Amino acid sequence: MKYIGAHVSVAGGVSNAPVEAHAIGAKAFALFTGNSSRWVSKDISDKEVDLFKHNCELYGFTPEVILPHDNFLINLGSPDEKKLKLSRKSFLDEMRRCEQLGLTMLNFHPGSHLNEISEEECLDKIAESINITLDKTQGVTAVLENVAGQGSNVGHSFEQLAHIINKVEDKSRIGVCIDTCHAYSAGFDLATPELYDQTWKLFDEVIGFNYLRGMHLNDDKRKLGSRIDRHESIGKGTLGKAFFTRLMNDPRFDNIPLILETPDELIWAEEIAWLYSQIVSEKDPL
Ligand SMILES: [Zn+2]
Ligand SMILES: [Zn+2]
Repeated sequence: MKYIGAHVSVAGGVSNAPVEAHAIGAKAFALFTGNSSRWVSKDISDKEVDLFKHNCELYGFTPEVILPHDNFLINLGSPDEKKLKLSRKSFLDEMRRCEQLGLTMLNFHPGSHLNEISEEECLDKIAESINITLDKTQGVTAVLENVAGQGSNVGHSFEQLAHIINKVEDKSRIGVCIDTCHAYSAGFDLATPELYDQTWKLFDEVIGFNYLRGMHLNDDKRKLGSRIDRHESIGKGTLGKAFFTRLMNDPRFDNIPLILETPDELIWAEEIAWLYSQIVSEKDPL
């Protein structure tokens, strides 16, 4: 079963996220549990936590299909000691808010070396940051997102993600989320059928499908290998409709949240409906 949704707004409180998701026909959703551009977010009240849980239950969203995203300031591989400390504190807060909401995953971009330390040192710092945070929390999996490779961001290759995973002590609480736009911009040609197969074969060899906890479904405004992160609406970019149809019929992506982060939120309902319409039933195979 495919669980398709979108990164919905939390305007008015986190408890509105499941309501918004339900309204657009989503079976999964992503959200920011705090302010996406601040180091510190205000606490979520017990009343709001209860309402969030109530609304999730009401609309049938279980923690396995909810993929919160951390704020954009955090750099768990920062070469700057002060920034690293701030990042680790903020990341711990993000994890604790997930615990509070009864959520089991936290999606984040690995980090950036800012051309001040080597790529390997940066990856090691990220793994250390994850270990420190997992030690202080319970029940929440750290979900690394692949990036486009813009600037000095690490985590654009499967090897880099595997490097981090290998150094995380609790393997049961580390996972991966693949963003389709980021993968294409990073040079994985998912739009060409043979290379689609090769890419996922490589993913399985280097990381392993057992670590795949979610996906971000975005078309790409830029060319293959551009290393630039510009999301496009489904079917309107360089990845194209045929790619998403193939993905919808690939059972390796069953039972995980598949989250739209496409730029036009007014057409999310349409995009979700179109993606579901692409699934060919077993009675009527391709
Ligand atoms: Zn992201
Ligand atoms: Zn993403």
